[in-house]
Amino acid sequence: MTQGENRSGAAGRAGRFALIYALLGTLWIGFSDQAVDWLFSGSGMLTTAQTIKGWLFVAVTAAVFFIILRGQFQRDHVTLAAREGQRRELEDLSQFREAVIDNASIWINVVDLEGRVTLWNSAAEQISGYARDEVLGSAVIWDLLYPDPDYQARVIGAIRATFARGEDLDDFETRITARDGVERLICWSSRRLFHADGAPLGVVAIGSDVTRSREMEQALRERERELHTLMANLPGMAYRCLNDDLWTMKYVSEGCRALTGYAPEELIDNRVVAFGALVRPDDLAAAVAEIQRAITEQRPYAFEYRLRHRCGREFWVWEQGRAEQVAGEMRLEGIVMDIDQRKQMEQALAALAIRDPLTGLYNRRELDQQFAEEVERARRYERPLALVWLDVDEFKVINDTHGHLAGDEVLRELAGLIQDSIRKVDYAARYGGEELAVVMPEMTLAEAEEAALRLRDLVASRPLPVEGVGNVRVTVSIGVAAFPEHGDDAADLLAAADTAMYAAKRSGRNRVRLAD
Ligand code: GH3
Ligand code: MG
Ligand code: MG
Repeated sequence: MTQGENRSGAAGRAGRFALIYALLGTLWIGFSDQAVDWLFSGSGMLTTAQTIKGWLFVAVTAAVFFIILRGQFQRDHVTLAAREGQRRELEDLSQFREAVIDNASIWINVVDLEGRVTLWNSAAEQISGYARDEVLGSAVIWDLLYPDPDYQARVIGAIRATFARGEDLDDFETRITARDGVERLICWSSRRLFHADGAPLGVVAIGSDVTRSREMEQALRERERELHTLMANLPGMAYRCLNDDLWTMKYVSEGCRALTGYAPEELIDNRVVAFGALVRPDDLAAAVAEIQRAITEQRPYAFEYRLRHRCGREFWVWEQGRAEQVAGEMRLEGIVMDIDQRKQMEQALAALAIRDPLTGLYNRRELDQQFAEEVERARRYERPLALVWLDVDEFKVINDTHGHLAGDEVLRELAGLIQDSIRKVDYAARYGGEELAVVMPEMTLAEAEEAALRLRDLVASRPLPVEGVGNVRVTVSIGVAAFPEHGDDAADLLAAADTAMYAAKRSGRNRVRLAD
């Protein structure tokens, strides 16, 4: 029942009450006057009776009023008490609402149908920089937040269009200009407000400042793009794999096609082949050991190994990476690069560095180093070791007779002859000029003397073919020294062998002499 209906109902009841009262009063006056006239006509009591009748009327009326008003006042009291309770409850509720709205960490504001701000919470103040007093009751906020008229028109147009369709506004992002001039990105959710009778009241807007998260998203996307470009252009393969025996790949960059001959999707989850299966087995064990060491020592790992391409070719790669815990699981992340050319060059250079270019035998530096190690080993394990020192006899004559180039050819042929006639464990070196040395591990002095004699006989008996000259015969003088008889370090043994060789020269050449 509405207030209007209440009011007209009360007036009706009061009217009826007044009508009955007027009727009863008229009847009372009529009848009582008749009765008084009839009972007291002509007597002196008439005036007194009239007075008593008046009192009686007042007493009855007072009693009726008392009964009616007492009931009414009691009802009024109950109603008023209930109203007071309701009022207090409403006050509490609205205080609670205000507190929640005001302390919310998100921007909450209400605008009426004319776009005037009717509510502006603390978060709205903080994010926008505009205080409640500056914006309440006016529509100036639109110009403040959206100073660019075109942009403002677009924003308002979009809001109006959404509400015109009877829809609410969700995930609607606008770029506001805060009081400090800095632009902020706000994500809005708006709902229309209505009166109890359904008439539109305004709009409540809830906004969250997404500037930072959008910036981060943007930065992340940018980084992902860069990373993708980087990965795709890497001169090798970037990967992320499990730390298992197969190196089960979880991610490989495009570079894996060139590196392995397999597409990323063929390697991932070992679909066509496991990456670990492409690694040369003897290299794999060392690589796995290095990874485990790196994990224990919490450092990156790096190693080289041979990889088998899809076409079957084996080549050297270099891998560097580190172990990372991803969602409770150990992952290996890194890059693999083809270093085959470098490795081949390195190997060629290393070979060159230890070889004599003319004869292909080890050079003097390599002999010194290897021989020192050999002597050390012989001493530690108390094993025999022999050194055979050769010098070509009258080599100057060969040079003088056939020319220097022919001399070179003779040296090359002689080196080949000696290399072919010694054991696999022996190694021959060109010490300089036409002096050669042969290190013979595990060989006693007596055995070495025999070997030296065989060499001398072989050289003397084998004519060496020289282009443009024909066969050239040479002889060699040989000195033999052995560990432990002639010294216990490399220098002593070298000197002893050299001295013995000179002794062989002095005693007529084409001889073998043992050191003293
Ligand atoms: P012997 O050892 O029997 O006493 O006489 P030899 O003529 O061999 O004398 P020596 O060992 O002192 O001289 C070595 C010669 O070898 C000197 C040098 O011209 C020559 N010679 C050294 N290195 C090379 C080389 O690389 N190529 C050529 N063709 N000759 C070399
Ligand atoms: Mg000589
Ligand atoms: Mg010489």
